[in-house]
Amino acid sequence: MKLWLTCMECHKELGNSPLACYPTDVVEDSLYEFTCLKGHQNKFRLQGIKYQFLFESAFGALIEGYYLEAVLGFTSSLERFYEFYSKFVCYKAGLNNYEFMKAWKQVSNQSERQFGAFLFLYAIEQKASFEESKFKIQDQKAFRNKVIHKGYLPSEAETVDYGQNIFDMIKVVSVEIAQKDHEYYHRFSGGELAPHLEVDRDDPTVIPTGMGSILGMTYEPSRLLEKDFRNEYEERKAKLLEIKKKALLEEHIKAIRNNTKPSTQA
Ligand SMILES: [Zn+2]
Repeated sequence: MKLWLTCMECHKELGNSPLACYPTDVVEDSLYEFTCLKGHQNKFRLQGIKYQFLFESAFGALIEGYYLEAVLGFTSSLERFYEFYSKFVCYKAGLNNYEFMKAWKQVSNQSERQFGAFLFLYAIEQKASFEESKFKIQDQKAFRNKVIHKGYLPSEAETVDYGQNIFDMIKVVSVEIAQKDHEYYHRFSGGELAPHLEVDRDDPTVIPTGMGSILGMTYEPSRLLEKDFRNEYEERKAKLLEIKKKALLEEHIKAIRNNTKPSTQA
């Protein structure tokens, strides 16, 4: 996945122009440094919750037609969501970050253990057991294992189904906790959104920048429930197709112009 970032100086001159945008490789610590073609230095810290970022990356892969990569990304996103949820409940119960990380380390290498932790923490938080069948968790697991361990090549329809199930599950469960304890949720997710805030405070050259995400939550959590995975997918795919068509057309016109010599007849 490439991330398109805007050079701040070029943006002052050109406004919202694609000429001010540069593709950068995605990095784990979210710190992006690049020099634009005009030599301006840029340093951005991308703010985003890990599971949302992974979901966005998988969604991008799906739109571009990379189904295998999309399945891997959706799976990682779901596991990071289990971690997010577990941390949320543990912090609320008074566990500190050091103890949480120590506990999580013991389940972090096995997805089944992470899912087990989530099931019980969900039951404690919601005072009800999690309904696996509602989100087809067992079907999802069988499909994921076929892709990851047996080299099965997923089709577009299968990948969209898989992404939709994970999207629906994360959407419903995250809105549940956000609506139940609004203030605490936003304090907690704010910390997850910008874990480098303290480090960056000493460096005024680092510019914090937000990341749009299909799973992102505003101050009105119920707005997320209105989002539909398939609609978003169709819309973004159509938009990408439009951009590609336009670029092809521009290339075509350029080629015609270059090959058309002015008439020399007097
Ligand atoms: Zn620049």
